[in-house]
Amino acid sequence: MAARILYGKDFAAKIKEDARLEAEKILKATGVMPGLAVVIAGHDPASEVYVRNKHKACGELGIFSLAVELPETATKEELLARIDDLNRDDRIHGILVQLPLPKGLAAAESEILNRIDPVKDVDGFHPVNVGRLSVGEASLVPCTPAGCVRMLELAEIPIDGARAVIIGRSNIVGKPMMNLLLQRNATVTVCHSHTKDLAAITREADILVAAVGKPGFVTADMVKPGATVIDVGINRIAPKKLVGDVDFEAVSEVAGAITPVPGGVGLLTIAMLMQNTVTAARLQAGAKK
Ligand code: NDP
Repeated sequence: MAARILYGKDFAAKIKEDARLEAEKILKATGVMPGLAVVIAGHDPASEVYVRNKHKACGELGIFSLAVELPETATKEELLARIDDLNRDDRIHGILVQLPLPKGLAAAESEILNRIDPVKDVDGFHPVNVGRLSVGEASLVPCTPAGCVRMLELAEIPIDGARAVIIGRSNIVGKPMMNLLLQRNATVTVCHSHTKDLAAITREADILVAAVGKPGFVTADMVKPGATVIDVGINRIAPKKLVGDVDFEAVSEVAGAITPVPGGVGLLTIAMLMQNTVTAARLQAGAKK
């Protein structure tokens, strides 16, 4: 039987509408419009598209947006100084540094991301927010895993008591996904490149999350019949062709529900960024009362 296709746009629309309503409420109550600054260094074409999409989404939802563009040759000190300015800027409640950074700055990535004030860290990458998530006091959670979990909730796919398997242990996707699912009472296993007999583990999953970065990595024989399969992977296999980590055609014959690529998780990520910006504005407005 063919799986239910979980289209990102359906869930992203709901997440964005909730963010729009909350932004409106904050504006009415405090006179403050939530604001997002996106810092981009250099001219990576894919990053420029993402940044444009973020500003467009802000415009649709009543969120102020500011683009901070730095040249490819920007120094670490210049970038840190811009982040310091944004940390002090009352119009800005969320700061995002677009990754990947240009080659000259890549080695300083942690130092740059850690310079963002944790209350404005809408990517949820700052160690303070990572720590809060792991002790269950999260407020700003990495957008991709937060969007996936919100999608499961909106789709009414049970998490409590489910066996969840995540392939990938990155700080951006795998690890925060583990914490979010664990907090919702899933039994979670995290797999990585040293995992032995991966297919035997993935076949036990009611919820299988693929965040590997390898096209077609998850095949039908790795999936339990009826499982929900979330494909986080984005792999460009030709100039205009993106695919996920899951062999969509074959797996959708076995799974109960599956996200497509493109048109799946990517749309949730940007919707959650909007929600995080509004959450950050609410927390900062509350802190100033
Ligand atoms: P990373 O490269 O940081 O992590 C990949 C993970 O996959 C690692 O933990 C790695 O294990 C694991 N892995 C690699 N090979 C194997 C293998 N043979 N068996 C089991 N595990 C393996 O990637 P990210 O987490 O940043 O991203 C993953 C994918 O998701 C990428 O395609 C990325 O583009 C996409 N992505 C999509 C987003 C969206 O909005 N949809 C947002 C963020 C990412 P080990 O740790 O041992 O090396």
